[in-house]
Amino acid sequence: MKLQMVDLHGQYMKIKDEVDAGIRQVIESSAFINGPQVKEFAGKLADYVHCKYVITCGNGTDALQIALMALDLKPGDEVIVPAFTYVASAEVIGLLGLTPVMVDVDYNTFNVTLKNIEKALSPKTKAIIPVHLFGQSCDMAPIMEFANRHKLYVVEDNAQAIGARYTFPDGSAKFTGTIGHIGCTSFFPSKNLGCYGDGGAIFTDDDVLGERLKMIANHGQQVKYHHKVIGCNSRLDTIQAVVLNAKLPHLNEYCRSRYAAAQYYTSALKDIDGIITPVEQPNSTHVYHQYTLKVLNGKRNALKQYMADNGIPSMIYYPLPLQQQEAFSNITRAAESLDTAAELAASVLSLPIHTEISHEQQDMVIDAIKSFFK
Ligand SMILES: *Cc1c(COP(=O)(O)O)cnc(C)c1O
Repeated sequence: MKLQMVDLHGQYMKIKDEVDAGIRQVIESSAFINGPQVKEFAGKLADYVHCKYVITCGNGTDALQIALMALDLKPGDEVIVPAFTYVASAEVIGLLGLTPVMVDVDYNTFNVTLKNIEKALSPKTKAIIPVHLFGQSCDMAPIMEFANRHKLYVVEDNAQAIGARYTFPDGSAKFTGTIGHIGCTSFFPSKNLGCYGDGGAIFTDDDVLGERLKMIANHGQQVKYHHKVIGCNSRLDTIQAVVLNAKLPHLNEYCRSRYAAAQYYTSALKDIDGIITPVEQPNSTHVYHQYTLKVLNGKRNALKQYMADNGIPSMIYYPLPLQQQEAFSNITRAAESLDTAAELAASVLSLPIHTEISHEQQDMVIDAIKSFFK
């Protein structure tokens, strides 16, 4: 069997009957837009993450854009974002005429910390977008305390960490995406809770923001054809909601199988000189959207090539930090040196991981890495 980064087909086979019947029912009923399955899914997801409002939308990038639109920011207002992330986190800031202020990330966790964020604060700062990269929560308690003290909004980019839980210093715990003022997630097929096309959702517990987010995602209207604000058209498809309704009851099991696969890699790879396996934090569960190594001594590309020559796929998430992206060269402000982001971009390598991966498949990956370093 060919080894892949992500195996969506194997997972589909386990829920095929429910998905197939549900999709056929949507087609039979012709309720393609805002069918009852969409509302059903939003309700079930709200129950799952213990959050008052779940507003479904077209994709994770839209979720971030709608979240920022709901905050009523002015052109030139600054939004703090990690320099090591997927472009969407920062793209929406620029798209809305706001200024992305890039901050560095922690070498161990790949995530922003309060230490990084503090240096970026200016009188124009209005919001922070912490990204729970690769499936592990940022250390949110100090970030929330800082944000509340300086009256900043926190919009969590939870596209990679749905199902992860963060534990506060007082012992209470929350799902990532429900800690900040607004949380955003993506149901892109390869995400931990993925549909079979595009999809996204926005979380909030705040009544005012909840109503605003719903309105903005729906052309700025609360009453049909009465438009209060400029909004956009961003909807989760009914067919995608069918897939998500079938998958949500399995999310805990999906998290567990990813975690088990990660532990299998780590126990086999942790003692190899020349790579660093993922570092887990005591205050967050890790849902391993990616299993990402740091390859030392400039050997990342050589290892990737060696693996490819032996039929083993791997991916670089992400090859360029944001400060090196042409699109941001004129609109950004960097608050500090972004050296860690640059170093990570040059050394990270993500291994195949998904809910269906077998020990035999993982052994092929492990053997290739071991023989490269022999
Ligand atoms: C996938 C992803 C997004 C965007 O989600 P889409 O549904 O592809 O628009 C945003 N941020 C991060 C960190 C992501 O991984």
